[in-house]
Amino acid sequence: MKDEKNWLDYKRYQIKIYGIVQGVGFRPFVYNKALKYKVDGWVINEGGAVVIDCSGTKGDIKRFIFDIVKHPPTLAKLEKIICIPINIRFETVEQNTIGFKIKESINIRNKIRFVSPDVATCDKCLADIQQKGSSRYKYPFTNCTECGPRYSIIKDLPYDRPYTTMESFYMCEECKKEYDDPSNRRFHAEPNCCAICGPKLYLIDNKGQEIENIDAIEVTAKLIQDGKIIAIKGIGGFHLVCDARNEDTIQMLRTKKQRKDKPLALMAKNIDIVKEICNITKKEEEILLSNRKPIVILTKKIPSYLPDSIAPGLRKLGLMLPYTPLQHLLFEEKLDLLVVTSGNISGMPIEYKNEDAKKNLSDVADYFLLNDRDIYTPSDDSVVKVINGVELVSRRARGYTPYAVKVQGDQTIIALGAEQKSSICVSKNQYAYVSQYLGDLEDYSCYLNYQKVLNHYVHLFDISAEMVVHDMHPNYISTYFAKSQTATKIAVWHHHAHMVSCMAEHSISDNVIGVIYDGTGLGLDGAVWGGEFLIGNRKNFYRVGHLEYVFIQGGDQAIKEPWRCAASYLNALSYDPVEIIKGVDSEVIKGVNQALNSKINCFLTSSIGRLFDAVAALSGIRNKITYDGQAAIELENVIDLEVKDSYKWNLIERDEQFLIQYQGIIEGVLEDVNNDVKVNIISTKFHNTIIDATCSFVYKIRELKGLNKVVLSGGVFENSYLLTNIYNILKLKNFEVFYNQQIPTNDGGISFGQINIAIAAMENEI
Ligand code: ZN
Ligand code: FE
Repeated sequence: MKDEKNWLDYKRYQIKIYGIVQGVGFRPFVYNKALKYKVDGWVINEGGAVVIDCSGTKGDIKRFIFDIVKHPPTLAKLEKIICIPINIRFETVEQNTIGFKIKESINIRNKIRFVSPDVATCDKCLADIQQKGSSRYKYPFTNCTECGPRYSIIKDLPYDRPYTTMESFYMCEECKKEYDDPSNRRFHAEPNCCAICGPKLYLIDNKGQEIENIDAIEVTAKLIQDGKIIAIKGIGGFHLVCDARNEDTIQMLRTKKQRKDKPLALMAKNIDIVKEICNITKKEEEILLSNRKPIVILTKKIPSYLPDSIAPGLRKLGLMLPYTPLQHLLFEEKLDLLVVTSGNISGMPIEYKNEDAKKNLSDVADYFLLNDRDIYTPSDDSVVKVINGVELVSRRARGYTPYAVKVQGDQTIIALGAEQKSSICVSKNQYAYVSQYLGDLEDYSCYLNYQKVLNHYVHLFDISAEMVVHDMHPNYISTYFAKSQTATKIAVWHHHAHMVSCMAEHSISDNVIGVIYDGTGLGLDGAVWGGEFLIGNRKNFYRVGHLEYVFIQGGDQAIKEPWRCAASYLNALSYDPVEIIKGVDSEVIKGVNQALNSKINCFLTSSIGRLFDAVAALSGIRNKITYDGQAAIELENVIDLEVKDSYKWNLIERDEQFLIQYQGIIEGVLEDVNNDVKVNIISTKFHNTIIDATCSFVYKIRELKGLNKVVLSGGVFENSYLLTNIYNILKLKNFEVFYNQQIPTNDGGISFGQINIAIAAMENEI
């Protein structure tokens, strides 16, 4: 009763909380805390923030705020809190603020807006679907304020049901009761639904015929056991699913999906199954079990009883755990390990609409397990690995996007990324939002999806860009797209963007030594760079040295056929490739050699990626690849940790640039190949050589320039052996060493680097 209050001690505050505070049960949480601390007032969603108006005694308010800030709901992420005292007029208190209310949302365009990523099924919902008698027993779309789809179904902010794809489902009386009850864990769970009122599953064959009057999950499980391939609609799009222990089905899937060798991801029933197959660390277990549920790259146990065709020849496997109620329910039907791979044809974006999937996947899938809940924004499963006990994100997607991160400027900017492994990034009011992995823009449907996601971000985060940033490469699709935009444009060098992506992630602004190892990127002199030693900061950089140039013949063909890289290196060193390269038609090699002699269709490059390709081909790993980075991945895969030797390399100075010479490396490999040295030894010696050369180069730069911070970035640093060894050696020499963690080291991180370069560049002008 108000009479019990000491009115002299009565205070009123308006608190505005920014961050991930919508769709995470924040308002009922505040409501319950208000009851606990006898605080009056209200709470409301406003754009991307939560606003609390609270009155009470000074002590109660203090405890109320402290509790909210110190122990927020599991999924919430508080980024910024503004607390303003409000003068109390006694009559206002009496009329309006006795008791605590949850008010309806207002859609005003807030300054800072956040969107929650999709969240894996929580333990309580899991118990609901497993428990006979529960109203959600076996219901595959069960969710609550702590779990369920978010980003994938959100069309606009604030996060309220009418702005999601759940809009078309009307809550039944029971669901509505939960939704309206602040003490219920489904209070304002926007996708709340049940078997009576929510989305429904249905199974069709690949002719479009529905299989009626069945338990769709039970029948799907049986079909999987019978060796069928099923397209299943999930959170971020379709998966193609089959039995991971059935070699024939996996081969069939590979043929139909046109995916010859690229590893397929697995989903295990539980962590015990993962431990049967792979050796896992504590950190890996923690990530597998987290509410993001990414694919984690793990080391396979040897001997392995799984079909080799899951990840041909590789020691690593990508595994994840179930993250939707549907997946959990499938595993209850006598399944324990499934191949769960993106529902697309290789190179194209993931399918996410029922009609498109039926059309495009009917030659791959035998059956389709569909549902009538629309996906608004598709995304693939995220891919991570653990190095030195730290999570490294290789593919940022479902559960990890949108990624909101603080930046050093409040400009409104759009960054368009590169070409392959593309992503976009927008910034506004000191926050950057990085999109999910958007694939290779050369594929037209990927490009269409890229534009769609960009429009969505512009709308969602209310972006009217002062500036558009793109890669310096004139022929990237993203560059053409930039040119069609009216905002001011700024072009950024590819390797500078890699370097700054890592600097910004670690909040570094001063000068660093940047070691940027990747496949392709346009350099200042027009050559294709990729084995670079840079010095610079967020605004500027210059090159101190690189891997010595070589002419590589064949354009894009050279990237798909590593033997062409080998032939190019041999030609440069005056060896005859025809005599050395095995397994390729000698006439074709001769043609390439002649083209090299006359510099026809050749590009000049310092790319370390191409050197890896050349060594992979020379050492007999492979002459042609079927997926991006395959030769380098397979070369790393055969490393023998016992081998400590390396090949000869030289660091020379020419035209004020330091160069790592490759002659000793290539000749060392050739000699070992001639002496029938095992590929494991050749590969390890080669890796050790690059590690030695890199570290020595960095010592030299410190000696000359007095810099002690080193940034390692670029796609080649996906190579764990290379990254960990360079990191460890430099640390031992007292360098401060940084590498990409949450921002991908590959081209997926370019857009984030670009945004930070643009921010720095705009500051320069002021
Ligand atoms: Zn219902
Ligand atoms: Fe790159």
